[in-house]
Amino acid sequence: MRIGAHVPTRGGLFGAIDSARACRAEAAQIWGSNPRAWAPPSVQADGAREFGRAWRAAGLGPLILHCPYMVNIASPTAAFRRRSVHLATATVALAETIGADGVVVHAGAAGASTERGRAVRVAAASLRAIAGAARHASVLVELTAGGAGSVASTFPEFRELLDACGRHPRLALCADTCHLFAVGYALDSAGGVKACFDELRRLRLSRRLRVIHANDSKFPRGARRDSHTHIGQGYIGKAGFRAILSDPAVRRCTVICETPGKLEDHARNIATLKRLAGLSIRMFSNPPRARPSDRRASTPEMIASTSPICRPTSRSARTWKPA
Ligand SMILES: [Zn+2]
Ligand SMILES: [Zn+2]
Repeated sequence: MRIGAHVPTRGGLFGAIDSARACRAEAAQIWGSNPRAWAPPSVQADGAREFGRAWRAAGLGPLILHCPYMVNIASPTAAFRRRSVHLATATVALAETIGADGVVVHAGAAGASTERGRAVRVAAASLRAIAGAARHASVLVELTAGGAGSVASTFPEFRELLDACGRHPRLALCADTCHLFAVGYALDSAGGVKACFDELRRLRLSRRLRVIHANDSKFPRGARRDSHTHIGQGYIGKAGFRAILSDPAVRRCTVICETPGKLEDHARNIATLKRLAGLSIRMFSNPPRARPSDRRASTPEMIASTSPICRPTSRSARTWKPA
């Protein structure tokens, strides 16, 4: 199990290396393009390949891309869905060039009036097209926090979606602890955690689970509110995370926190997760000190790009620097 964070790229993909080191991440998730814009990744193939080599040379572990917020693979509007598939496919292409391990795409939401069977078929058609562009990377379908028209926020719903995709080999599962808790999984107790992952096993999905988004929840269980907070400071709590991190299905995963704040906050959350998982804290032979790039950690760019990422916010994308 590698534990890391969603890190800012600060002016370009290479910034992710400094960011990951600064918070002692052993895995990272990044945006491939502006998370609040339709523009596809603009990075040139040579630069992307060079970044991939530098990432691997730094020994930083799994690297995941997250699709921009606008992507909705189940949109009831055909034009919106086509744009979504196009942007997600472009993100997969970047992942292939970099050599990233996977691309996270939300399971999507159909219109409230869309019949469920149709919503699943539409989302499945989108996913097949996106996964068709992947050769090595996994397309990680992230379960959502529920809400009107949500296609998959539980494991049985993901099973249905995966079957509708013909069990495409490149499709995998990303579970966000805050989202699971928001739809009612009792991740705040050892018994609830066991019941949750036993359901995953019963549905024969444990091998598909590759990424855990480790986020505590600001709202009580079942509130259907997607609001992330620091590990141990929300309703899931440290006991909940200790149980989550000891489950065999989770032990095989890459764990990424998407908690708010700066790199120091990520470092603290990663250290907490490692302690709760019973893993040693990674120490660099030369502990990272504040470098010029680190001093930018409190600039608006940095704050914007480390905000909780699984729901759109009203923050302007003006300050984001495209990769
Ligand atoms: Zn998430
Ligand atoms: Zn997400």
